Amino acid sequence: MDERVNVKALFLGPKAENYGYFKEMLGYLMDDHSEWRRNFHPDDAPVVSADEQAGPDYLSTLQKTREALIELAGNLQLSSIPWFSPRYLGHMNADTLIAANLGYMLTLLYNPNNCAYEGSPATTALEIEVGRQLAKLMGYDPERSWGHITSGGTVANYEGLWMARNLKSIPLALKTCMPAAAAGLDDWRLRNLPSAEILALADQARAGGRFEELRRHSVRGIGMRGAGLGKVLVPQSKHYSWAKAVDLLGIGQEHLISVPVRDNYRIDVAALKKIIDGLAAQRIPILAVVAVVGTTEEGAVDEIHEIVRLRDRYEDQGVCFYLHIDAAYGGYARSLFLDAEGRFLDYNEINRQHARQGVLHGDTDWLTLDVYEAFRSMPEADSITVDPHKLGYVPYAAGAIVARDRRIIDLISYFAAYVFERTDDNPMLLGSYILEGSKAGAVAAAVWMAHRVVPLNITGYGRIIGYSIEGAYRFYRSLLSSPPLVVAGRRFEVIPLSRPDINIVDYAFHEQGNGSLEEMNRLNLAIYEQCSYKAGPVYLSDFIMSKTALSREEYGDAPAAFIEKFGIAAGEWDRLESVYVLRSCILTPYLTSNTTYEEYWRNFMQAMERAIGKACGR
Ligand SMILES: *Cc1c(COP(=O)(O)O)cnc(C)c1O
Repeated sequence: MDERVNVKALFLGPKAENYGYFKEMLGYLMDDHSEWRRNFHPDDAPVVSADEQAGPDYLSTLQKTREALIELAGNLQLSSIPWFSPRYLGHMNADTLIAANLGYMLTLLYNPNNCAYEGSPATTALEIEVGRQLAKLMGYDPERSWGHITSGGTVANYEGLWMARNLKSIPLALKTCMPAAAAGLDDWRLRNLPSAEILALADQARAGGRFEELRRHSVRGIGMRGAGLGKVLVPQSKHYSWAKAVDLLGIGQEHLISVPVRDNYRIDVAALKKIIDGLAAQRIPILAVVAVVGTTEEGAVDEIHEIVRLRDRYEDQGVCFYLHIDAAYGGYARSLFLDAEGRFLDYNEINRQHARQGVLHGDTDWLTLDVYEAFRSMPEADSITVDPHKLGYVPYAAGAIVARDRRIIDLISYFAAYVFERTDDNPMLLGSYILEGSKAGAVAAAVWMAHRVVPLNITGYGRIIGYSIEGAYRFYRSLLSSPPLVVAGRRFEVIPLSRPDINIVDYAFHEQGNGSLEEMNRLNLAIYEQCSYKAGPVYLSDFIMSKTALSREEYGDAPAAFIEKFGIAAGEWDRLESVYVLRSCILTPYLTSNTTYEEYWRNFMQAMERAIGKACGR
């Protein structure tokens, strides 16, 4: 049997092509669930009689629900975004997997709460299972690592930094409550122990029955005041959740350092090194370095392998930091690198494998060595954020955090440490190891269903994401080679921002000969206005894209090179300090057929022509 998923059978489809099947399954889950209810004490009498069901207030109550539903359906139809359509080229959204939707809907009827095992015997286990699957996807050892579902990448990032903060404060706590264990280590050294050593020290405290005391003396007990844990280094391309994270965790905005990115929007590793050197020279510790796999605005993949090399080299010099990867967006793309047995594919073989498995056509020419090495090095990080509700094609609210060494959750847990022995008959009380409290078991079920049907390797997710990358590359190449659009005798060119590392394409239009950045920004903003959705019938929308402003405040001078490609003088960048780009996250898997794509591209350029015409007041 062919193990590969057929991507078109996975989604409801832009024209609801799989309506019949989906509806049949909906019927099945209603029948199945209702049967379950009836079978709980089948001899108990029903509480609702047929007579009551025929009563006027009964019927009018049902009618009220029907009317409310119709009202809601109308609202949703009028003002929802058609994520299922290839014409949706905006944010990180697409159709969601039938499997995930059905899993969600079925579980919703049971309404489990994954905060505590008591409220969710079935779905807590599923959450632990998908946590292991995601840890494996990231290259971690499933037996030693830890993973669970959060409401999204934001909360996963909070949890990542929470673990980092508490871990880094352990050695100083040790000095207070177990001075002998910290003997011979000065404060600088204590603030610069590698993660594995800190966890070993915590184990030592546990063995001596001092673990509770140790935790109490760490920042979780005494707070951040005077902790001196140092700086958090994140690339300029960071998601804004990092600003919120340092605020919430009491680290403070002034300890968040933005590391410059290059003009490919990947972190500038040389600049990172310079910052670390500067801090080390002043004896300022570094709490954590955050790298990004799939930046929110550009889809850029930081060179994780270079950052890991840097970390290892500094570790030898006694400068140690926690490494977290924010792969909220790009994490699932790691499935493109794993064969059916979960082995990371060889670089020399990977293109052939992708072609053989129908993951990507050979001429897509997507994968570069840098991106390959970056994905390969991910398991070197202490923890990773990865969102099923992005490239996992699962409905909200599904993010996830995975950590390389599960012992780290002892440092954030509110389970008394002495009962912290997880065995099969001491099941997980998730709520005490995580940031959130009550949470939908339906989400865990949705992710579990998705992973059950779509393997986390080239036979499953690799295919969906491969198709989306292929579409993104077609789109990118079309933009690159597109002749200028002629609108009312004026010529407008389009240039992509950078070669996509995954499947996000940013680009901007520009009137040839125009030397004003202000004018160019106005044009792209006007195109965006035409091709975005705010209100009114969505059926009037042609194509829907998103936009972003790349500003000097956020990006330094990285965008200056892009402006120059349009022949706009560098002085314009200095004057305006911001450039608007149109942003298309191409998650749709439907742009791989030549005939479909050609017509699609024609439609797109016609829509751009109309939008530019309107922008120019025609
Ligand atoms: C989307 C995203 C986040 C935030 O995730 P949510 O699920 O929206 O909370 C964080 N980091 C990156 C890189 C992202 O793309």
